[in-house]
Amino acid sequence: MHWMRFRDRAGAVRRGEYEDGTVSFGGRTYDVDDVEVLPPAEPSKVVCVGRNYAAHAEERGEEVPDRPLLFLKPPNAVASDGDTVTLPGDNYIEHEAEVAVVIGEQCRNVAVEDALDVVAGYTAADDVSNRTDQSQEKNWVRGKAFDGACPLGPVLASPDEVPHDASVELRVNGETRQSSSIEHFIFTVPELIAEITEYMTLEPGDVIITGTPEGVAELEDGDSVEVEVEGVGTLSHDVERR
Ligand code: ZN
Repeated sequence: MHWMRFRDRAGAVRRGEYEDGTVSFGGRTYDVDDVEVLPPAEPSKVVCVGRNYAAHAEERGEEVPDRPLLFLKPPNAVASDGDTVTLPGDNYIEHEAEVAVVIGEQCRNVAVEDALDVVAGYTAADDVSNRTDQSQEKNWVRGKAFDGACPLGPVLASPDEVPHDASVELRVNGETRQSSSIEHFIFTVPELIAEITEYMTLEPGDVIITGTPEGVAELEDGDSVEVEVEGVGTLSHDVERR
C-alpha cells in the first residue's frame, strides 16, 4: 500500500491511501492536484548515512567506511513533494538521490534480525548538499541542515512494495544523472538500524536516508529534480537561488 499525508481544503491534515493520482480518507477520494501534499513523515530527526555505495565513495575520492558514516538533518530540513528548495548563498550545491526508511515505532538497541520489524515503510529523498560549506565543516550544519535540504515523498510505501534490488534514479530537467539499485548498499537497512539504535532512540516517523549512489552533480537556479524509487514512485522538487 501507499500512504500520502495531505492537507485537505478545510485545512485538516490527513493520512490517506494513495492510488493512481488520488488519495482516499474517511470515505472521500481526492484528486492529488486538489490537496496540499505533505511530507510522508514528520521526523524528530533525519539520520543520514554517508558513503553507502562504493561507486559514490570512489567518485568523491574517499575510502569505503568500515562502519556507517552518520550525520543528522533536523526537522527544518524536511520539504515536500512539489516544493521549491532555496539554495543557500551562491554555494556549490549537489543533489543526492536516496532511499528513505521511515520508522514505525519507538526503538533502541534493535538487533539486526529484528530491525525490519520497526520499519513502517519507504519513501524517496534528495539529500541536497552544500559542498562549499560541507568541505569546510566537520559537523555539516551549513552543508546539510539548511531549510529544505531534505525533500521527502511523495508517499510512504509499505515494505512489501519495495523489492530488495529496488532501482533508484535521479533526473534533472528530465536528464538522468544517477541510476543504481539498493542491492549495491554497503550496509543494509537492518545493519543501519542496529548501528544507529546502539547510540540513539528512534521515534515513530523518524527517517533514515541510506546514502546516495554515484552520479551526484551540480544543481542550478530553476532546475527541476525527480527522484524515482522502484515501488515508491517519484519525488519531484525544484530549486531556486534568491
Ligand atoms: Zn547523502
